[in-house]
Amino acid sequence: MHKKAIIFTIDGVRADAIKIANTPFLDQQSRIGASSFTGKCILPSITTPNHASLFRSVLAEDHRIIDNYDIAPQTQAFPSLFDKVYDSGKSCAAIISYLPLLNAYGHCEKLNFALHKNISLGIEHLIPDNYYADLEKHLLDGADMIIDNDTDIAHVYIEAPDVVGHNKGWMSEQYIQAVEHSDKLIESFISRLGDKSKDYNFFVTTDHGGHGYGHGSDSDEDTTIWFISFGAGIKPCTIGDFSILDVVPTVASYLGFQQEPHWQGDILDIYT
Ligand SMILES: [Zn+2]
Repeated sequence: MHKKAIIFTIDGVRADAIKIANTPFLDQQSRIGASSFTGKCILPSITTPNHASLFRSVLAEDHRIIDNYDIAPQTQAFPSLFDKVYDSGKSCAAIISYLPLLNAYGHCEKLNFALHKNISLGIEHLIPDNYYADLEKHLLDGADMIIDNDTDIAHVYIEAPDVVGHNKGWMSEQYIQAVEHSDKLIESFISRLGDKSKDYNFFVTTDHGGHGYGHGSDSDEDTTIWFISFGAGIKPCTIGDFSILDVVPTVASYLGFQQEPHWQGDILDIYT
């Protein structure tokens, strides 16, 4: 079987929020697949540094992306998963709505394609009626491109809970609804892949939590994260100590890539 993977990150979803929210799709996948609800992100607990750590399996003090808009030449010393995928002749892609993520990947010219759409809340900080419909259309366009390009590994980013958290508060009613919408978005994305979805392992996680109207601290609310992974060859299991640094070693082992000596994460014991 030709092994492929899709990594979803849903921005700013606390581990207790995914438990409280009504997320039938991810609940079902966590029962048939692997999961952890006691994981840790890296510090600072913000978006681009954590995505850089996810894709490189090193801490922020190494990749030097310590703020969302940092562009760090030092990251060249720590190739990202996309560098490895591209250099091996396989194809990689990103479906995003936040451009600084390109810095987290590093050499964005090595992406076979990136689909970006800026989907923002209104200036009154209201959630526009078409917000989730726009997000869904963008993601489904991305799913179509993944099929058309026969993409081997993709990152799919869902911004909604973080944006709503900053505007309405973490754990507010609207924030929990954003988590629930994210569950539906992932379900529709995967169902859009149709039969092709059988070729993929899926890894769903978040970059950080939050409290009040923000995040970035070393508090448990900001740093406790989770993952759910499912697809052929993944066994039903619960993993205790999950770190965002573990994503790349785990996905790389599934794809058949050699582990890099600089990777600081572990291969999670999720495969049969
Ligand atoms: Zn944020």
